[in-house]
Amino acid sequence: MAGTRLKVLLVSSEAVPFAKTGGLSDVVTALAVSLEKAGVDIRLLMPLYSSIQTGELAELPHKLAVPLGVLQEPARLYQGVLPTSSVPVYFLANDALYRRGGIYGDRNNIPFADNARRFTFLNRGAFEVCRALKWRPDVIHVHDWPTGLIPLYLRRQESAGFLERTASVLTIHNIGYQGTFPKQDLFVTQLAWEELRDSDDEESSSINLLRTGLRFADLLTTVSPTYAREIQTTEYGSRMEGLLRERSDELTGILNGIDYDSWNPENDPLVPHHFSHEELSGKELDKRELQLHCGFAPDPSVPVIGMISRLVDQKGFVELCSPGSGSLYHICTDMAVQFVILGTGEPWCEEELSALQSRLPNLRVYLEFNNKTAHLIEAGSDFFLMPSRYEPCGLNQMYSLRYGTLPIVRRTGGLADTVEQYDEGSGDGTGFLFDDLTPRSIYDVVGWAVWAWYNRREHIQGMRSRAMQRRFSWEKAAGEYLAAYDKAIDRHRSRR
Ligand code: ADP
Repeated sequence: MAGTRLKVLLVSSEAVPFAKTGGLSDVVTALAVSLEKAGVDIRLLMPLYSSIQTGELAELPHKLAVPLGVLQEPARLYQGVLPTSSVPVYFLANDALYRRGGIYGDRNNIPFADNARRFTFLNRGAFEVCRALKWRPDVIHVHDWPTGLIPLYLRRQESAGFLERTASVLTIHNIGYQGTFPKQDLFVTQLAWEELRDSDDEESSSINLLRTGLRFADLLTTVSPTYAREIQTTEYGSRMEGLLRERSDELTGILNGIDYDSWNPENDPLVPHHFSHEELSGKELDKRELQLHCGFAPDPSVPVIGMISRLVDQKGFVELCSPGSGSLYHICTDMAVQFVILGTGEPWCEEELSALQSRLPNLRVYLEFNNKTAHLIEAGSDFFLMPSRYEPCGLNQMYSLRYGTLPIVRRTGGLADTVEQYDEGSGDGTGFLFDDLTPRSIYDVVGWAVWAWYNRREHIQGMRSRAMQRRFSWEKAAGEYLAAYDKAIDRHRSRR
């Protein structure tokens, strides 16, 4: 690519600050900004959801006709920019498909019945946008199932002529969500059953958008080296392991960076007191603020354990708080700790946490999505618990390290790649890891951290300072993505 500026289109269903349900949204934006700094002509395409205000966007003159089924649907195009950058963001607008409350589903997380249609529209819309702008990306980089059909469209009729040199990269942010739909939705895609089927099994009667992307993208990446290995196993592969093993030479794990402009304890505008690894008194003051916020006694000697999470099985909540068998009740009754949880998710889990909160004076639960509270929890807690069943990369453990809030994590995915185990002899490490996901092992590992807090305070201090100096930079990740794009372009050329 020497001499020419690499052109890359990111297509995503979410990107901060416009639409967010999880880490994917942070990652797409941070990656785009870092790639721009690395000199790439990088642009982003996403749907115009009703939560996105058009006041600050420019409506472009292009009136698009996007093929959907055998007909065409109209689309308008808006343009904005990612904050702190000049990265153009194109918003694909179609009121019938996107102007409703929610990205994937309604307020109760029930998926919209026409999601196959909504996201096929985005996938096919990407080609119409490039054509209208007369802009030919070298790579289209797609993310998770909502954009999983683009690699196949690139190989089919859409690529005839205009985008025939464009390679595709698919990043798996979470293989647990695959975009499976009934076979009759095939019609809306105008693709073949053999290409979209959920599995090679004769019984199969669903289409699977992620699997299609995994089969047809020129290159696959996922968001940590450990997760790249794990998803090739039956335990973690969500039925895609065979396919991924066949493509293991074309699957790379690239650890996400974090946005140190938004998550920096030295100048974080969302927390009352600032601190660094050399001057930690601000952290003590933030802890006091957090304790008061939660209605706890503002006692510096009691460790505060924080969690910020979607309240779903993936994050270990079954083992943590299943009625009758979860470990949270015993942690809060047996150990001298204060526990704060911020999250939204499955109704059973929200109900159980509310019930536990009413019985446990040292447990505070916030059932909301609140970025300010998230920052206060990161800054003011002593420990941060993530007992995930699987964790492709995870962001909160990296934020926690930066804020000197020692992570207590299951050894899986990106958690295994970013947290170093505490050594009781030397005091080395940056957190506490455990292997089996059972209520007992969560109880034991939290007990171990609490033991160290009360009995090895010098180790806790050393770990805190070490943790705060670890860096997971987007510059490094962007460099690895550039190498992946080169590889994808090579593969694409050699296939043609
Ligand atoms: P996932 O993408 O699986 O949900 P990650 O740890 O990768 O998990 O990213 C979660 C992101 O969402 C983090 O930025 C986290 O701070 C944020 N988050 C999750 N739940 C909440 C909440 N209830 N309030 C504020 N932020 C939240």
